Amino acid sequence: MFDAKTEPHTGLALELESMRIPDLRVVAGKGELELYCRDQADVPQMLKDVLIRYVPDLVVQPCTPEATVEALGFAKARGLPVIPRGSGSSPFGGSIPVNGGMVLDAGNLDRVLSVDKEKKLVKVQGGCRWADVDHALSAHGLRLLSCPSSRFSTVAGWISGGGLGVGSLGGGHLSEIVTSVRLATPAGLITLRSPQEELKAVFGSEGQLGIIVEATLKVKEKGTGARPHLLLFKDLDAAVETAERLRRLSPLPEDLIYFSPGKLRYANKLLHGDHFGDGHALLVTSADEGSEKAVSDLMASLGVNEEKEYQARLLWHERYFPMKLRRLGPGMLGAEVLAPMGRLKDILHRAEELCQEFDLDPLLEVHFVRGNESLLLCYYLTDQVNQSAYTLDAAKSMVVTSSLIGLGARPYSLGVWNNSFADSWPAEEMERLRKAKERYDPSNIMNPGKYFALKGRLFGGAGMIFSPAGSGAAFGLMAKLHSPLGAAFRSLSSLSKKAMGPRERDPLVQMANQCAMCGACVSVCPAYALTRDERVTARGKLLTAKTLAEGGEITREHAHRTFLCMRCKACEQVCQSKLELIPAYEDLEARLEKAYGKDAAEIERFVRVAEVSPRYEEMVARGLVLGAPKNAMGGERRV
Ligand SMILES: Cc1cc2nc3c(=O)[nH]c(=O)nc-3n(C[C@H](O)[C@H](O)[C@H](O)COP(=O)(O)OP(=O)(O)OC[C@H]3O[C@@H](n4cnc5c(N)ncnc54)[C@H](O)[C@@H]3O)c2cc1C
Ligand code: SF4
Ligand code: SF4
Repeated sequence: MFDAKTEPHTGLALELESMRIPDLRVVAGKGELELYCRDQADVPQMLKDVLIRYVPDLVVQPCTPEATVEALGFAKARGLPVIPRGSGSSPFGGSIPVNGGMVLDAGNLDRVLSVDKEKKLVKVQGGCRWADVDHALSAHGLRLLSCPSSRFSTVAGWISGGGLGVGSLGGGHLSEIVTSVRLATPAGLITLRSPQEELKAVFGSEGQLGIIVEATLKVKEKGTGARPHLLLFKDLDAAVETAERLRRLSPLPEDLIYFSPGKLRYANKLLHGDHFGDGHALLVTSADEGSEKAVSDLMASLGVNEEKEYQARLLWHERYFPMKLRRLGPGMLGAEVLAPMGRLKDILHRAEELCQEFDLDPLLEVHFVRGNESLLLCYYLTDQVNQSAYTLDAAKSMVVTSSLIGLGARPYSLGVWNNSFADSWPAEEMERLRKAKERYDPSNIMNPGKYFALKGRLFGGAGMIFSPAGSGAAFGLMAKLHSPLGAAFRSLSSLSKKAMGPRERDPLVQMANQCAMCGACVSVCPAYALTRDERVTARGKLLTAKTLAEGGEITREHAHRTFLCMRCKACEQVCQSKLELIPAYEDLEARLEKAYGKDAAEIERFVRVAEVSPRYEEMVARGLVLGAPKNAMGGERRV
């Protein structure tokens, strides 16, 4: 660890620090705490300010299960809410406080513990990133059965919410892949194993049971002969019908996605070429030679024309960068719902129609998985710099979600922002979680005030506003009145775009809004590995730039922390929005130096420590740090 200047701690943080718990970093500086006030979603500020108390009282970063239990004990003794957090890449608000409390950043529980090649099992700590698990497996000729497109997110984060992603058609939902979970609860450490009923309760529990400190997952051998195929259809119904056939093949393909014509148009824009034609696309990826044959035979029997292999591969690669689109907004909103297969066509048609009525340009994707549901992502670009247009688009987005739910869909996750639709969550799953919570967290300190009983500000009244009976009913009514409402939305949108947009755009703020706030850069940043302070990362620096541009104040220590950077460009390589970050750092540092000076001696000391740190060596060896001086490719840091 690099020992940088810090702001002095007070209150709870000082009390916890004085207990000297091994392997536990305590965070209490205002600037660093602010990074934990949000996740990937950028909810209109006005709404957040009124409804929830999102600034945590303190943040802890344990590196061991034992330190995690000690931190939970501290919180329990004081009745302090504990909000678990992984990479903060989920957009639903599950990892942000609604009433202050202690955020437990589990991202430092990041080790791969063992790989059992014979049994095809891997045991990891909860904060381990999917990319790191896959890297470790690769050395044994193994690979993951499935993972989220956000390979930089944590294993525990995906267990707690989500569970569907790359490879879910072949590999199944994450709950079919995880064989055991070790949970740190306020009552101590427990292990839940498949087929125990309580293990099921952990999936989608959104941190309301305890901290997932370890998990064991099934994996598979690396196969050969698999590849993606791209099929184009003139109409949506034909594409969905072919998808139905593909998802019933035996053996199953690994992955199957539908892309709307709008989505393909934007993919062309982002790739600066005319790679994909006009139509409804299916991207089907076989798992091995057996499934490749099944896919090819079906396509031949249906007489479906296939696009070129390179086009399929291009689109498959783009699948890992779904947030690149934000650049074109800047900003993106969307509805993520699970749609019953029997109603999928109706739901897709409704999404297209409503978006047209509301003046939104829909970019639709359907991820086909096993079972009776599929995951529909309905995104639209927005202009986040123009807060009036942005707030209006956020309202439209909720009405679209409500309308799709009216047709039988349900939200993919609840968190805070989907709480209005909590009544469409399966009652059986809710009951299972409630029972497990009574057993493992009777004092209700684990992520309280979320969808069991949302509280927040206004003496808890925020919960009423965000309830199915409050905003849920209001959105439902608006969805029914979509025609007259659409006309009003269109007029208001055009007014807000013309009259209320900012006259000048600060390039740094523009970039901060293009940033997906996904945390991919955090997972590869050698400066973060040494300081564990997110202010040194791209996400942290862009948020600092935004704070300054909005007239916020930062401390001198905060400003100086921003300079601790290797200019190694690992952040640029993995950036989800493909941002040119290094010139932005130069701009930000120049502004900071003017206002706060810079501590050249600390930067010098930092670079010396960083360059010989084992973590940096490992990153260079893995090719994550292409711009590293050690690779003789530039990236030299001038003090
Ligand atoms: C580019 C991109 C692609 C994405 N692709 C997918 C995808 O394919 N599929 C998908 O489902 N999602 C996807 N997401 C959303 C998100 O990345 C995933 O849901 C991811 O699994 C969240 O993990 P995280 O570590 O960021 O968790 P966070 O966002 O930090 O937290 C999510 C929830 O888990 C809880 N939690 C976190 N850590 C723990 C822990 N150790 N113990 C207990 N609870 C915990 C939190 O309290 C919160 O409720 C994507 C996001 C981005 C930006
Ligand atoms: S250049 Fe390297 S050290 Fe600097 S923010 Fe990017 S990843 Fe971190
Ligand atoms: S800078 Fe790039 S990688 Fe980092 S949070 Fe923003 S979009 Fe994600």
